[in-house]
Amino acid sequence: MNANYINIKNHINGQWVSDTETQQESLYNPSTGEVIGQVPLSSATTSSEAVQAAADAYPAWRALPLPKRMDYIFKMLRAMEDNLEPLAVAIALDQAKHISEARGEVSRVIEIIQMACAMPTMLQGETVQGIANNINGRLIKAPLGVFCGVAPFNFPALVFGWFIPFAIGSGNTFVYKPSTESPLFMQKMMQLLVDIGLPAGVVNVVHGDRTVVEAWYEDDNVAGVCLVGSTPTAKAIAAGCGQGGKKTMLLGGAKNFLVAMEDAPLDLMIENILMSGYGAAGQRCLAVSNIAVVAEIYDEFVERLLAASKEITLGDAMDPNIFMGPVISASAKERIHNYIEIGVAQGATLALDGRNPTLPQANQAGYFVGPTIFTEVTPCMKIAKDEIFGPVLNVIKVGCIDGALKMIKQHEMGNGACIFTQNSYYTEKFINEADVGMVGVNVGICAPHPYLPFGGIKGSLVGNNKVQGKDAIDFFTQNKVATVRVVDPAAHGTSTNKPKDNNVRSCVAS
Ligand code: NAD
Repeated sequence: MNANYINIKNHINGQWVSDTETQQESLYNPSTGEVIGQVPLSSATTSSEAVQAAADAYPAWRALPLPKRMDYIFKMLRAMEDNLEPLAVAIALDQAKHISEARGEVSRVIEIIQMACAMPTMLQGETVQGIANNINGRLIKAPLGVFCGVAPFNFPALVFGWFIPFAIGSGNTFVYKPSTESPLFMQKMMQLLVDIGLPAGVVNVVHGDRTVVEAWYEDDNVAGVCLVGSTPTAKAIAAGCGQGGKKTMLLGGAKNFLVAMEDAPLDLMIENILMSGYGAAGQRCLAVSNIAVVAEIYDEFVERLLAASKEITLGDAMDPNIFMGPVISASAKERIHNYIEIGVAQGATLALDGRNPTLPQANQAGYFVGPTIFTEVTPCMKIAKDEIFGPVLNVIKVGCIDGALKMIKQHEMGNGACIFTQNSYYTEKFINEADVGMVGVNVGICAPHPYLPFGGIKGSLVGNNKVQGKDAIDFFTQNKVATVRVVDPAAHGTSTNKPKDNNVRSCVAS
């Protein structure tokens, strides 16, 4: 066997667990199509064992003074800073995100953990003094127990950052299931958590498919489940967790619109479209997909977008000199090819065809789709409605901003949208009326800074809870309220429960 062959392992109760009985799935390098290792498809029993380990670790972890818990979050931050490159290489290998973008993803997680370091302030409660005679009301942000999280293939590090620092920093313990298509980041990250001395059972990792997740729905030890993934998966988990009465935070799929007005700064906008549409080979929940362009600049825009897209280079995700890596799998490539055929069949113009792109010799067997552009697209075409999740751009001609806003409103997804304009009327109208969760103005479809919540609306978010910022603290804690009557021992107490001077002194001394 190849010495570099990667055996992905579960991590439960402080131990790396390698179960030879467990069914394994092959792990691929999408840049070359080679098998580089294997991932366990863990059983429901293994999943439940991980939850039990997290439940056993919870009382001591919760009882740890907050500054001591925060010590671990600071150590996690430093460990990521010190290991940025190996963590990025892990992402570039199995997810085949281009190495520069993989570094960017790890850097973003570092920023998220910096935000989580403000936890002691965010966990502060509230007191309302004197809600009745001698009665005070107090709100405490209390942990809930064991949370479980499920990650998509396309952001193995980011989703770790959205869930785990906030969940454990606020006093919960965690079970995490990465995607079987990109488990390598978490294998490396979990080792860093071991190295910083995180107590056993506080974070557990179980690899596998839906079987792992379904074991959580009826488990009394599980307080809540969070997912970043496609909308059908979010809905399936919502249904399962609804039955089991679990709290959920479920971010779903997307189909993002970019609106180009007649005064759009074209250079800036095209540069942004190349990054957003072809970065990560179009496999981002904030990838631009539908480009609504007003008639005045439509022809010039299409000509310039085509010219720029033809310059995009493809190759191995580890090659710093290429722009775009592959898509995640052979089946993803086939799905994108199918959508290209559907677009043609439904009457869109295939202005640039990304099937059969030019590739380096070493990457001939990788899963590559080149930049693809459809023009003369209408909003009712399947390619404009469905999340294709590949480097495919649809250009749609619109008459005015109202036409673009109507299309956004009518779309079942509502993750992000952006406008390029220099006009403040268009800007304010777009911010106000674009029916999505995240709006960008001259910045593309932009991820909010970790200080602010991240998440869409409509089909892009199942339920209400978003990730990052104060919203993360709200999800991983409960607002527990205490109503306290202060009883004057002199008026109500007996001689035995009146405070004694020596008791008071010993309290102060300790
Ligand atoms: P996916 O929904 O296929 O899988 C996500 C995770 O859920 C995986 O770990 C998978 O094993 C698990 N899973 C799949 N089916 C399940 C089921 N029935 N029950 C329980 N668990 C199940 O998504 P993917 O292909 O890995 O990732 C791409 C999708 O994620 C896209 O739709 C993309 O838009 C979305 N995404 C959204 C955001 C966001 O912020 N909204 C961010 C990243 C990715």
